Amino acid sequence: MIQCQKCNKSIPEEKGLVNTNTQTNEKMVICEACFKEYMGVDYKTFQVRKENAKQGCLATVVCLFVTVYAFMEYGVLYGVVGLIATGLIYYFSAKIK
Ligand SMILES: [Zn+2]
Repeated sequence: MIQCQKCNKSIPEEKGLVNTNTQTNEKMVICEACFKEYMGVDYKTFQVRKENAKQGCLATVVCLFVTVYAFMEYGVLYGVVGLIATGLIYYFSAKIK
């Protein structure tokens, strides 16, 4: 068992969440309830959002590469189409967040 550093509640080790303070860079072990209070979302939602953001980012990068490739191989028209597709993917992945 470990202790939540915020509310001092005892929590099972695998349930402890490490939260890094963005200002001081200090690591803190907290429970899920404190995490929710601190971040405004529960841990599961946070994980899902993080995963979505990562996938959206990856999709955008891949699209950008394809666009550059299309532009060089097939010309401006394909480049523009790719750019629009990239923009759309970026727009939708930003919307999910
Ligand atoms: Zn706590």
